[in-house]
Amino acid sequence: GEIAIDVRDVVKHYRTPGRGEVQALDRVSVSVGRGQVLGVVGESGCGKSTLARLLTRLERPDSGSVEILGRRIDLAKRGELRELRRGIQLVFQDPYASLDPRQRIGAALAEVLTVHRLPSGDGRVGELLETVGLPPSTAGRYPHQLSGGQRQRIGIARALAVQPQILVLDEPVSALDVSVRAEIINLLVRLRDELGLTFVFISHDLGVVRHLADRIAVMYLGKIVEYGPWDVVSDTPGHPYTRALQTAVPIADPGLDAPPTELVVTGEVPDAANPPSGCRFHPRCPLAEDRCRSVEPLMLPASGRHRLACHVVQSEAATADGTNG
Ligand code: SF4
Ligand code: MG
Repeated sequence: GEIAIDVRDVVKHYRTPGRGEVQALDRVSVSVGRGQVLGVVGESGCGKSTLARLLTRLERPDSGSVEILGRRIDLAKRGELRELRRGIQLVFQDPYASLDPRQRIGAALAEVLTVHRLPSGDGRVGELLETVGLPPSTAGRYPHQLSGGQRQRIGIARALAVQPQILVLDEPVSALDVSVRAEIINLLVRLRDELGLTFVFISHDLGVVRHLADRIAVMYLGKIVEYGPWDVVSDTPGHPYTRALQTAVPIADPGLDAPPTELVVTGEVPDAANPPSGCRFHPRCPLAEDRCRSVEPLMLPASGRHRLACHVVQSEAATADGTNG
């Protein structure tokens, strides 16, 4: 099918005061077909949000390319950029932060439409509310009168106002109660089907992502370590980090002041300003061998469209192949 997003070999560094240069993304490549959902999974600091910012051109890569709907958003100039940005919208974890507490919901939605020179009458606002499963009366309410789930629906409605083809959802359900999460996921599934949308769904929780992703990219310290069809990655993950994410006890969001994510592996995520040598996961990996400390594993095909970067898993696979003839 047609490609909606094509990211090739993207590298992104940040200069941070006191910590020097931090590599947020190291040679990251992903592609997403139209109408597909790419799930991006990893802990805080793995580069997920940086990827979201590059896709929506809030940032530009140091090198590599970012193609949206067949055009280079990383190179686009004003007019083209405005047009491309309409095509790809970002939905944040906490829409409350970007809503004016003194502005009624209807006015907030009308404002987005006006900024983009789109019809902004009550009819269109009501239509947007209906699209995200809210009654028209929501237009008269203030943000503080809404529940977390209702506010996230407004966040999605705002993104949909400009009729994008792609939504980049950065931890869209992480701030919500578990009971509300399923409602929002179901809404997203319905919107994908009804509007033919393409999603990049970012989360620290593999369990959430597997509900709607067609493909999953698992990231660790700025690199993709495993990538493939959702069922292969979530049912038979090969990379030790993915296995750890899978067995993680109720995952808390590191960004929410909640208890830290518990993994089967031990230790904190190392500082991205000073990533470990060899395989970046080696200080926390229960399978680590000597070579893991010095030699960086490459992303290699495991089976079909499933790829991963791990010396030990790759050797095991090679041995199994040899034995089976
Ligand atoms: Fe663990 Fe080594 Fe594989 Fe890295 S390459 S995930 S350290 S076994
Ligand atoms: Mg983040």
